[in-house]
Amino acid sequence: MSNPTLAQRFEQIYHTKAQGIASAPGRVNIIGEFTDYNDGFVLPSALTFLTQVAYRQRDDNQVVVRSSMYPNEVESFSLSAPITQGNSQWGNYIRAVAFVLQRAGHKLQGVDLLIESDVPQGSGLSSSAALEVAIAGMFNQLSQLGLSLEQIAVFGQQAENDFMDCQCGIMDQLISAKGVPQHALLIDCQHLQTKAIQIPADLNLVIVNSNYPRKLVDSEYNQRRIDCEQAASKMGVSSLRLADVALLQTHKDQLTATEFKRAHHVISENARVLAATKALAANDMDHLRQLMTASHQSLKFDFEVTVPATDGLVEICQQALGDRGAVRMTGGGFGGAIVCLCREQDVDIIRQAIDNQYQSRFGLQADVYVCQAGSGLTITPVQ
Ligand code: ADP
Ligand code: MG
Repeated sequence: MSNPTLAQRFEQIYHTKAQGIASAPGRVNIIGEFTDYNDGFVLPSALTFLTQVAYRQRDDNQVVVRSSMYPNEVESFSLSAPITQGNSQWGNYIRAVAFVLQRAGHKLQGVDLLIESDVPQGSGLSSSAALEVAIAGMFNQLSQLGLSLEQIAVFGQQAENDFMDCQCGIMDQLISAKGVPQHALLIDCQHLQTKAIQIPADLNLVIVNSNYPRKLVDSEYNQRRIDCEQAASKMGVSSLRLADVALLQTHKDQLTATEFKRAHHVISENARVLAATKALAANDMDHLRQLMTASHQSLKFDFEVTVPATDGLVEICQQALGDRGAVRMTGGGFGGAIVCLCREQDVDIIRQAIDNQYQSRFGLQADVYVCQAGSGLTITPVQ
C-alpha cells in the first residue's frame, strides 16, 4: 500500500475506505523565471515534497474536503449547483478545479477527500500547483475523464487564473504533473513540450526559504504580466517568445521604461534557459553559475521582483560556495526562496554561512531544504 497512514486517517474520519491516493509534488525552478506566461522556456524540477489526496466516491453530488493543515475545518460544496467562491481560502482551490473541469463540459462525481502535504506553503515551491494537480488528477481518475498530463496541468493553471485570480503561467502545474525523478524538465511553454534533462548525480538542489513576509504578491505578479503583454503588443509580436534583443532595441522609443526592462528580462532569460540546459547536462558549473547569477541580476534590476532578504541570501550563499556552486532566487519573487546547485560536501558550508549572517542582517530565520528531483503526478489505488 502506498501510504497506509493517510489511508487509515481517511478511514477514521469518513468511516469508509479510501479508494485511491493522488499525489503531486511541489517544484523548484532552476532557471527561467516569468518566461512561462510569455510562451518561453523554463527549467524546473519536481521535488519529493508531495501533496497527497486520499479519495472515495460518494453517492451524491457533494464534494467534502478536509486538509490536515486546517484540522478544524471542513469544506463542502455541491456539483449540481454553479460553483462559486466559498468562505475557505484553501477550499477555494478545490472549488476552482471542479469549476474549470465542469466549465469544459466534464461530468464529475461527488467525492470525500483528505489532503495531506509536506510542500511548504507560500515559500515559492508551489504548494498551490501541487494541490491543483493532485485534485485534477483525482477527478480525472474518479470520473474517467481521459485527460492527458498536459491537460491536467492546463486545468490546474485555469483554476488559478480564472477562479483564484492569479495570472500564473503553465510551469508550476506542468512540472507537478510531469516531473521525472533525478531530472529537470526543459519546458517549451508555447508548445507544452518537455524534455527531461538528467541532473548530474553529484549535484544537490538546495532551497533556502527567506521567510520574508510576502505582500501584494498577486497584484504585483499580475501587473508584470500586463507589462509584458503591452511590450509584446507594441513590438508587434503575439508573445515575448517571438522577440529578440534587436527587435526590442528598435522599439525602445515606443515602450515605457518599465515595459522595456520587463521585456529585456524575458528575452534574455529565455536565452539563458537554453544555455543552462546544456550546461546542466554537461555538469558545467562555471557556466551554470554565470547564467544563474545573470538571471538573478536580471530579476533584480529589470524585472524588479527581488527583495533585500532574497538578494542577501543569494549573496551569502554564493560567497560561501565560491566557484563550487550556482545560486539565484527562484519562484514568483517578492520574498520566497532561493535555489543553490552545489555538491553534497558544500551543503554544510551554506548552512553555516546562513546561520552566521542571515538573521543578524535581516532579522529573519531561513529554512534550508536539501532536495531530490522527484516524480510528477501519481495515482495509487488503495487495497
Ligand atoms: P505557493 O504556491 O507558493 O506555496 P500560494 O499562496 O500560491 O503559495 O498557495 C498556497 C495556498 O495553497 C495556501 O494558502 C492554501 O490555500 C493552498 N494549499 C496549499 N497546500 C495546501 C494543503 N495541504 N491543504 C490545503 N490547502 C493548501
Ligand atoms: Mg502558488
